[in-house]
Amino acid sequence: MKPSAFAYRRPASLQEALSLLEQGDDVKIIAGGQSLVPAMNLRMATPGVLVDLAGIESLSALNVEDDGSLSAGAMVAHNRFLRDAQVGAGWPAIPLAVKHVAHEQVRNRGTIGGSLCHADPAAEWAAVCLLLDAEMKLAGRLGARVLPAGEFIKGVYETALEPGEVLCQVRFPAPLRGWRWGFHEIARRRGDFAMAGALAGLAIDDSGLISAARLVVFAAEDRARRLDAALVGVVGCKPDEIDPDLAGLAAAAEVDPRSDLHASAALRFHLVHSCVVRALVEAAGKPAGVRN
Ligand code: FAD
Repeated sequence: MKPSAFAYRRPASLQEALSLLEQGDDVKIIAGGQSLVPAMNLRMATPGVLVDLAGIESLSALNVEDDGSLSAGAMVAHNRFLRDAQVGAGWPAIPLAVKHVAHEQVRNRGTIGGSLCHADPAAEWAAVCLLLDAEMKLAGRLGARVLPAGEFIKGVYETALEPGEVLCQVRFPAPLRGWRWGFHEIARRRGDFAMAGALAGLAIDDSGLISAARLVVFAAEDRARRLDAALVGVVGCKPDEIDPDLAGLAAAAEVDPRSDLHASAALRFHLVHSCVVRALVEAAGKPAGVRN
């Protein structure tokens, strides 16, 4: 199918983009186009004007800042995170999850900002941002504001963006030293959106004990969610002494899984359990498949 007719604008500055976005309800941002263009081809989206953010240089910057944080412009493509050595060394949870976003071609074009603004409940980026306590910097005609990751996505395809606002930057706090990470998702085919997924993090102190734990479950509810409380039982244990099964059950009991074409709520309950167990096993450094 083909999209309906639209005009195309490529502003060179954020101010210019914000002015264009003020010019009517049918003006829409395009980033990598990997979600928007299929929607346009199906006529589920029929914007009259597309504002391409690719000409705004600052939105494509990926930098480690003086305070040690990682700042990513909204237009940084998924694959750039996978190829950046500083990201891999300082924020290993990012590549661990983002390598599961779609396929190579989609990862070359699709962007972190586009993924977050599209707000698919199965998107890996939303899960990573929650796990790492990222912040989103937004800009609108009335000024800029910063939101914690937990306040940015409101539901299925729904965000806190006001009309005419642009997501400009995502900021990840300085690297968490001494943490280990695990990721697992279940999709029908490699590259498909997940039916359920989990990202786990364990902080190991100098005596080899787990001092803190984080967990995000995604693709199960209307948005990704932090479920650290499900891991309360692992804190104070040695990584090889934890019971991932118990944590998996605690997490699955917390979620209110949705039913859709891809999986029923009952199936998702089991998928969440499996994903949490496997993510935790990976984070704990246990050989795959080994449980207490
Ligand atoms: P676009 O498609 O250009 O835009 C998406 C939406 O966000 C539009 O409404 C647009 O107006 C808005 N928008 C974009 N940028 C901004 C901004 N800076 N500020 C405000 N609004 C903005 N994603 C996954 O997470 N996991 C997967 O497994 C996965 N599988 C996929 C498989 C296929 C075959 C395809 C085609 C896509 C898949 N995706 C998957 C989606 C992919 O990650 C997209 O890249 C992403 O969802 C959208 O990013 P984009 O840059 O292409 O945004």
